[in-house]
Amino acid sequence: MKTTRRTFIGATTMAAGAGILTSFTKDGKTLPRYKASGNGLKLSFRPYELQLKHVFTIASNSRTTTAVMLTEIEWEGVIGYGEASMPPYLGESHQTATKFLSSLNLSQFKDPFRMEEILDYVDAALPGNCAAKASVDIALHDLVGKLLNQPWYRIWGYSAETTPLTTFTIGIDKSAEVIAKTKEASAFKILKIKIGGGNDEEMIKSVRSVTNVPLCVDVNQGWKDRQEALDKVHWLKEQGIVFIEQPMDKHNFDDTAWLTQNSPLPIIADEAMQRVGDLERLHGVYSGVNCKLMKCTGMREAHKIIEMARSLKMKTLMGCMTETSCGISAASQLSPIVDWADLDGNLLISNDIFEGMKVIDGKVTLSDLPGIGMRKKV
Ligand code: MG
Repeated sequence: MKTTRRTFIGATTMAAGAGILTSFTKDGKTLPRYKASGNGLKLSFRPYELQLKHVFTIASNSRTTTAVMLTEIEWEGVIGYGEASMPPYLGESHQTATKFLSSLNLSQFKDPFRMEEILDYVDAALPGNCAAKASVDIALHDLVGKLLNQPWYRIWGYSAETTPLTTFTIGIDKSAEVIAKTKEASAFKILKIKIGGGNDEEMIKSVRSVTNVPLCVDVNQGWKDRQEALDKVHWLKEQGIVFIEQPMDKHNFDDTAWLTQNSPLPIIADEAMQRVGDLERLHGVYSGVNCKLMKCTGMREAHKIIEMARSLKMKTLMGCMTETSCGISAASQLSPIVDWADLDGNLLISNDIFEGMKVIDGKVTLSDLPGIGMRKKV
């Protein structure tokens, strides 16, 4: 983002009285600088329910709504927004998130820039609750990015030009519906096909009857036998598939390691990959990992996961749940350095209340808005 005098004035005005100090660069430009002013962070939250445009079916279940919790952290008149997306199979709900968020006391923190200290406190408050923790992490990143007047991809030092294409997901369905959904997704240059529901060949053939774009597949642990899995991988390679996500049970390390060793396509961990601590044991078992903010407690840990996976020479995929543009824009801040992105969750819902990252010509396109790069729709 080009920081103009106008944006400085905007930031300064926005935070007037917020313990702001003004300093000057050599050429006389003013820079805003903040210090703790004695007022603590204010956390608020409200439940919301996402309406899905289509019934969404994967190998284990179907649904038409997703429960989310929308959070805000306010400090000195500046508000950061966050979100917890809680698909039922992850075990979190409006009730659990309410309990978790109510247990936090962020007013004890007078300085939002001490993010490590604040997020260590949030992570240690209760075990689990990863999506609820992510909702605080995202709101804090949004707040601090706004105070710095920069989007996070710039704070981390990444380039907006290197973002990947994003996949668009086609759920398991009958052939006619799969063909219709694939035609609807013609703007996307790569698709993710859900399989593992017993009709794998039919799913792929239906998609291939209307498009030649590269595909990746997500089995959601649906394959049970490793030799049968390897035969399927070879068949899928001939169909132009790019990678295979979570082919077998997340606990089945031995067969997955054998499959990865013998597979001509990268094998990516999703359900098996939660927190940064999982990476060490997944290294050598999978070719790469699908990192999602809602699984790993948010942007702070996702940043660590992606950077660590890259240093281990593992493939990286930035994924999502069904989310508003709040969670999706936050995740997209990391997309400039990943191999693939699966950031379509906001496109699967009909009641998004935010706008931020856009998919243009199939590519993740970051906004220059500060923080997590999104705003509330008016
Ligand atoms: Mg998956």
